[in-house]
Amino acid sequence: MSQVLLVLNLLSLLSLSSGATSLSLGSRSILRAIDNENGGPHDYAVDLNASNFDSVIGDTPATFAVVEFFAHWCPACRNYKPHYEKVARLFNGPDAVHPGIILMSRVDCALKINTKLCDKFSVVHYPMLFWGPPAKFVAGGWEPKQEKSEIRLIDDGRTADRLINWINKQTDSSFGLDDEKFENEHLSSNVSDPVQIARAVYDVEEVTSTAFEIILEHKMIKSETRASLIKFLQLLVAHHPSRRCRRGSADVLVNFDDLCPLDMWSPSKQGDNNGEGTLGNFQICGKGVPRGYWMFCRGSKNDTRGFSCGLWVLLHSLSVRIEDGESQFAFTAICEFVHNFFVCEECRQHFYDMCSSVSSPFKTSRDFALWLWSAHNKVNERLFKEEAFLGTGDPKFPKMIWPPKQLCSSCRLSQSEKNNGIDWDQEEVLKFLTNYYGKILVSLRKDKKNLGNDRFDGFLEDLAVSANAVAVPLGAALAIAVASCAFGALACCWRSQQKSRKPRRS
Ligand SMILES: Cc1cc2nc3c(=O)[nH]c(=O)nc-3n(C[C@H](O)[C@H](O)[C@H](O)COP(=O)(O)OP(=O)(O)OC[C@H]3O[C@@H](n4cnc5c(N)ncnc54)[C@H](O)[C@@H]3O)c2cc1C
Repeated sequence: MSQVLLVLNLLSLLSLSSGATSLSLGSRSILRAIDNENGGPHDYAVDLNASNFDSVIGDTPATFAVVEFFAHWCPACRNYKPHYEKVARLFNGPDAVHPGIILMSRVDCALKINTKLCDKFSVVHYPMLFWGPPAKFVAGGWEPKQEKSEIRLIDDGRTADRLINWINKQTDSSFGLDDEKFENEHLSSNVSDPVQIARAVYDVEEVTSTAFEIILEHKMIKSETRASLIKFLQLLVAHHPSRRCRRGSADVLVNFDDLCPLDMWSPSKQGDNNGEGTLGNFQICGKGVPRGYWMFCRGSKNDTRGFSCGLWVLLHSLSVRIEDGESQFAFTAICEFVHNFFVCEECRQHFYDMCSSVSSPFKTSRDFALWLWSAHNKVNERLFKEEAFLGTGDPKFPKMIWPPKQLCSSCRLSQSEKNNGIDWDQEEVLKFLTNYYGKILVSLRKDKKNLGNDRFDGFLEDLAVSANAVAVPLGAALAIAVASCAFGALACCWRSQQKSRKPRRS
């Protein structure tokens, strides 16, 4: 049975059985908790607490983390906050000047929930600041007498100036409090380094979150587009490379009718759209997703690459994760998603034309992954000429027929460049794509696998990790298959219940 169907059936079961409902609600409430506890709109530092500390710090793309332990009643902490925020502005948030380097965060030790967490770091006065690699904070701690700890007490950070100086010494950098967002002219393109794609795991999260924000902002969920959004969500639940996006997509899918009621844009509902329970308040990949970072898709200019690069990476990463039986489903889900929800008019029209020119249904994931690769190359070829003519491309990332020789020499058949085109060894291309967008893309996350301990994560992880990476024991696979058949019937009931609820809503 395909993973999409399997996951759907089990999701349906989750929403039917009371115990499982609490699982689904549990993950939603975790997301909400993270939302609510994050700082206000002007706070750059990320508020952490005992329940999100490990997951937010563990999932940051930043190389270092600073954690400030404070108490909200402490006057010195209140006075220190503007200093800390001045530094956090440089590293956190969508307008970060130096994104992806340091996560600036804080924990309020005056909240009961954080007592044990603050004890683990031997917090004896406020504020107390620590520095270290994010992984060392996860499940870690600090003791004053501990030698050789990679977590260090920041002993000279009492003003913004002193804190940034301390950070500069640690990182051998020259960050300044007055730094403004710069054109990334010094960015090295590194296109021939296959390991670079591992950084894109953050980009596929960012692009997913941003895509849903755009969909809402542009009020694109309409009666005629709902089905295609649901289809795409189904694909994300089963095959998104990021666990937290799979979990968030599952939550949206299970609660779709409530989060996106048919009349969600009617004047009477407009006021509710920022309220609890609607999609507007929902972060599909969790609140911890860095924004504006574009780790792999960062352009050397501020207005190049980013979102559309992230979208391609997401689509390719889905294409190498599906099973044969899902290939036509994935094709239509992606084509419809781009057509209905990609706000670049020219892009969606061109892509739609390419989708429409496919004459027979896809039967294998191989064919679909290669079709998407080839479609992307057609876009590259067209844009290469256009951007060269108009001078609008990113000079560090010129369009090219991909993958270049440096990335995959075996992908090209010996020496042949036929009629301006390239004679590809398609099996080698497929092997390359599968490894690049499959295993390597999630390699950073695999290292942090021990971070996720919520049952729903584990449950989806077992079902829906990349097709090339899962080896489900036969017994377990049989058990899942039998269970999913039984769940299928229940799923039908649930779907028909959902359907019968719709007319009342409209
Ligand atoms: C569906 C879609 C249609 C688009 N159509 C248009 C359009 O019609 N006109 C327009 O101006 N812009 C279009 N865009 C945007 C454009 O394709 C680029 O995304 C944008 O110009 C940014 O380019 P980039 O250098 O970041 O690389 P991108 O082309 O975005 O590619 C991102 C990364 O994917 C990898 N890659 C490159 N080629 C391939 C391939 N063939 N297979 C697999 N991986 C590859 C590379 O590592 C590259 O860095 C479209 C985007 C999408 C998602």
